[in-house]
Amino acid sequence: MDNLIRILRSFSEGEQDKKFIESFVALLKDKVLNNVQTMYEAGLKFKNRKVIFPPPWDSIYASLKEIGLFKRFVPVAYGGRRASEESIYFIMELFGYTCPSLGVMFVAHSRAVDLILAGKDEGLKRRLLSRLREGDFGAIAMTEEKAGTDASAIEFSARREGDYYIFDGEKIFISNAGLARIYTILVNTKGQKGGRSLSVFAVEDEIDGFRVALLPEKDGLTILPTGRITYENCRVPKENLLGDEGRGLLLALDAIDRGRIMLAGISCGLACRIFDIIFEYSRKRVQFDHPLTSSQDISFKMSEMYTQINAARGLCFHALKQGNSSFYRGASSQAKLFAAQMVISVAQLGLMIMGGRSYFKSNVMSLLSADARGMEYLEGTSSIQKMIISRELFRSHL
Ligand SMILES: Cc1cc2nc3c(=O)[nH]c(=O)nc-3n(C[C@H](O)[C@H](O)[C@H](O)COP(=O)(O)OP(=O)(O)OC[C@H]3O[C@@H](n4cnc5c(N)ncnc54)[C@H](O)[C@@H]3O)c2cc1C
Repeated sequence: MDNLIRILRSFSEGEQDKKFIESFVALLKDKVLNNVQTMYEAGLKFKNRKVIFPPPWDSIYASLKEIGLFKRFVPVAYGGRRASEESIYFIMELFGYTCPSLGVMFVAHSRAVDLILAGKDEGLKRRLLSRLREGDFGAIAMTEEKAGTDASAIEFSARREGDYYIFDGEKIFISNAGLARIYTILVNTKGQKGGRSLSVFAVEDEIDGFRVALLPEKDGLTILPTGRITYENCRVPKENLLGDEGRGLLLALDAIDRGRIMLAGISCGLACRIFDIIFEYSRKRVQFDHPLTSSQDISFKMSEMYTQINAARGLCFHALKQGNSSFYRGASSQAKLFAAQMVISVAQLGLMIMGGRSYFKSNVMSLLSADARGMEYLEGTSSIQKMIISRELFRSHL
């Protein structure tokens, strides 16, 4: 992990958030790094339609709150201490290295914060952001049974009735389901197919008619709660609309651009962890009277892994440098595409180098390579990233 921190520092120019990052690193080293297997075994508990943290999770959650991680996503104007984009990237790489599931929880959380910031009702914003700043989790819900890659097919109905919108519909594959207290939801307010019929709302989980169920166990990212949320005849106040009606897809896409760089960071951190494990293993494992590293084939595989990781990180920092420019969307998709493919390929090479041991579920490489595969689906698959990159490429070159 120290090697990763050294590399990250060489990329960053600012001293901002240095103290926070130091306490974050200390917490990860102390409570998360060597605890992942125990955390996986403990899992998260689901009781009375809420996810709860059993040990050692409860203490990790309390410490993350205590060092002020939740505040790092909320601007000062709303009582938070929003960190720079580079610091958020650091946080995500470090989560990727130690526990990718936790990282994904905070990606979903931070996207909810960004969507709420687009709200127009100051009272609502202050109330919700103070909850998210103090340790309640947020979530973002777009995917439906018939609307995965194609968000314009969203059917979840939100019908206006006086001062309320009546919600009827279901969302699937939602990260932080049951854990989140506030859901940001992309719904159809016009009853017609198409992006211009979509709007975003923020809804607290206490609302009548809301149900949540966790989906069956996943292959990887097993401690990320992923579920189905259902709204039946729910009366949502009109003030909970975020941004303008019919502009929800545009808002959600902006939030996703940021989320993509964070996910690319998780992929880079996870790939570094895999690399470090394989590096140690291949130095110690002796076959034909020599450590594996003395084989040219193994050392070439490791050179490839290392180069791919650094190339992916380079794309992430390139994307971060685009700021709010018109190149940001294309650059964040390139970072996400490359990093997701990279971590899968690094995991594959790692599995080959570790040999038969890695095929057993209890082996840490087996856990980490399943996590690596999950990075493909989040914030859009590689195909959708290619769609975005080609669209942006032709737009900016015309
Ligand atoms: C662990 C996990 C967590 C998730 N968290 C969230 C969350 O918090 N919130 C949320 O809203 N969603 C979430 N999702 C859903 C995720 O965003 C979707 O799985 C993803 O958008 C793809 O949708 P789909 O699975 O329905 O695949 P489909 O849309 O059915 O696509 C299937 C395949 O076809 C490809 N494809 C589709 N259309 C085209 C095309 N026109 N050209 C070429 N290829 C195409 C896709 O790339 C994919 O490979 C999560 C998913 C997972 C696995």
